[in-house]
Amino acid sequence: MTGRDSIQDLVSLCLYAGERFDLVQAGGGNASFRKLGESLWVKASGTALSEVRVGSGICELSDSVLSALIEELVATAPGLSVAELDLRAAAGVSAATSPAQPRPSIETLLHALLGPFTLHTHPPAVTAMVCQSGWQSRIAELFPEALMLEYKTPGAALAVSLYHELKSKPREGQVIVVFLGNHGLIVAGETVEDVVAATDNVVEVVSASTGLPVGRYKLSNQISSLFRQAAVPCHCVYVSDDRYLLSELSINSDLFLAGPAWPDQLVYCGPAGLQLDRLDDAAPITRYVQQFGVPPKVIIHCGQLLLVGKNVKNCREIEEVLKAHVMTLKSRCRTAEFLPQEEVSFLLGWEAEKYRQSL
Ligand SMILES: [Zn+2]
Repeated sequence: MTGRDSIQDLVSLCLYAGERFDLVQAGGGNASFRKLGESLWVKASGTALSEVRVGSGICELSDSVLSALIEELVATAPGLSVAELDLRAAAGVSAATSPAQPRPSIETLLHALLGPFTLHTHPPAVTAMVCQSGWQSRIAELFPEALMLEYKTPGAALAVSLYHELKSKPREGQVIVVFLGNHGLIVAGETVEDVVAATDNVVEVVSASTGLPVGRYKLSNQISSLFRQAAVPCHCVYVSDDRYLLSELSINSDLFLAGPAWPDQLVYCGPAGLQLDRLDDAAPITRYVQQFGVPPKVIIHCGQLLLVGKNVKNCREIEEVLKAHVMTLKSRCRTAEFLPQEEVSFLLGWEAEKYRQSL
């Protein structure tokens, strides 16, 4: 595997988790690729996983410098406070960061202990369990091979704790699953596919055990995958939880498929919504792009509302404009008049040109 392929794989891992509310929220979570003894590529601080791209939102650090730093922190940790340890760690991580790189995440040291691919998430199904007393015995029953760490302050203290756990229970050549008390989950493996499969499995098993209904959020990945099958670029598919929109969708789905009544709706939500009945057929996406020249941004599927955007923040903007659109069409005024077809074609020409240039 070349370095370039590995970075593309890392971006796909970031986007897999970044669009899933049941895995990460806001700027939380992190992913990395580690070439042992050479470099560690990890998500930059302040970047959401859904915003990561090749050449943006990832920083490169020296893996050997980080390994030496961890050894030093482990040796000095017993005599230092958490704050003192974090200060030393921050200086060391900064020294390990290659020139002209963005600032790495606070959790970089955790990633420097694992790999090649590592994904750290905060799934509500997992935190629901690891925030309970006696969680270790329940996890040991469900995942006998998993590592478990008591709560430590995120940063150097947590990395030192993981270092000791890995030394005492080596997991050579296996997918490593680590549960973090009052915090979340880490999965590391040889390939992105291994990490994704193990993360999905943990969330599925733990959500069944905790009774948390989070299965619908997997629709994000399923619909992204349909876009890939149709060879249409797609960075983020967001499962809407908006109560107003979901309620209106259950009454009249035509409102979500309608054309634009005002310009912003076309710019944010596209020329029309798309109804997807099946998750194994990408043809409706292909036909939509052929008809309009742009990909769909609003999708309805079995009573669920999906928004397709550049990242989670952009999907929420689409959701906001869509809500205004549905309210407009639902108002007690007389039936809304849509934009004339020639105006839609004119505005759509701009959007289609932007899309063509992005390919
Ligand atoms: Zn975390």
